[in-house]
Amino acid sequence: MKINPNYKTKQELIDLYNQPLLELVFQAATIHRQYHNPREVQMSSLISIKTGGCPEDCGYCPQAARYHTDVDAHKLMTVEDVVEQAKNAKANGSSRLCMGAAWREVRDNRDFDTVIEMVQAVNNMDMEVCCTLGMMNEDQAVRLKNAGLFAYNHNLDTSPEYYGDVISTREYEDRLKTIDNARKAGISVCSGGIIGMGEAVEDRIGMLMSYMNMETPPESIPINALVAVEGTPMEQQKPIEQWELIRMIATTRILFPQSIVRLSAGRTKLSMEAQAMCFMAGASSVFAGDKLLTTPNPEFNEDKEMFNILGLIPKEPFADGEKPVSQPDQIIEEKKRKEAEKELRREEARKGGFTPRKVTVS
Ligand code: SF4
Repeated sequence: MKINPNYKTKQELIDLYNQPLLELVFQAATIHRQYHNPREVQMSSLISIKTGGCPEDCGYCPQAARYHTDVDAHKLMTVEDVVEQAKNAKANGSSRLCMGAAWREVRDNRDFDTVIEMVQAVNNMDMEVCCTLGMMNEDQAVRLKNAGLFAYNHNLDTSPEYYGDVISTREYEDRLKTIDNARKAGISVCSGGIIGMGEAVEDRIGMLMSYMNMETPPESIPINALVAVEGTPMEQQKPIEQWELIRMIATTRILFPQSIVRLSAGRTKLSMEAQAMCFMAGASSVFAGDKLLTTPNPEFNEDKEMFNILGLIPKEPFADGEKPVSQPDQIIEEKKRKEAEKELRREEARKGGFTPRKVTVS
């Protein structure tokens, strides 16, 4: 059961969300146990492979170039550095690596070739690879899929009605199109939202309805609590009550029984007891490591202690889908072939004592 057929109208969903908290959690926990091993929680690591300088204006994001935040912009990481971080994440129990680049969209350039190589390298380490690179077209999705990408993250963030209050540089439709492109390429979809941005409960439900209206809902739904960062338009937002996050997770679990519900940003503000309630309510994944892109997150050791106390066990990679096979990328292989040809010609020219003709430009 990918979507719970018992809830269809917006009012039914709002009533579900607003029911007495313990009733809601009990209902979510019951469904969670039918479809998942409640002790298993997937640990994912999220690294920022290209930080800051983004031309978009997402109101919550410290990486938008137009906001004055403490984020230092960095160009794309090297494949070697990503592999080092992946090894560290794997050694600490992560079975999935999510690589985020602060781009509006994927461009067909050298940087994208490097991302393709990163995907190949991390997939070959037996970790699930997820990317979040902004908007992408169908061809780019196919290249990522062939490289061994397991999942693509592209959040709807909120309802279609509230979207314009959060972001003005792209449309809700653009998001849906990219999700569709990932889906068509056979990539698993990770898409969720943020609560605490000043939206109403109706907007939280509106976002969930957008996922219910998809032919196939996302396999993975991250639920984030806003981390209000100084310098962004949302810096003054009051932190949400932890009960709201638990409600949102429970409601998501009930509506999407088979999806992974990810307890994502904002975990540093939650007590261990509140996190335990989130797991009870159906959260089946957390992000591990002391940074979530640019915002703080609990350290590996704190999570290990929490897992021990709550009796949780990290989920193995590829428990929810086959490991993709990384294939050679045709575009990169063609570039390599042309480069090798050029090098051969240069070598032959050197052997034959060829001296390049001096050209004078007038
Ligand atoms: S959320 Fe992504 S697209 Fe939006 S400003 Fe931040 S990096 Fe750019």
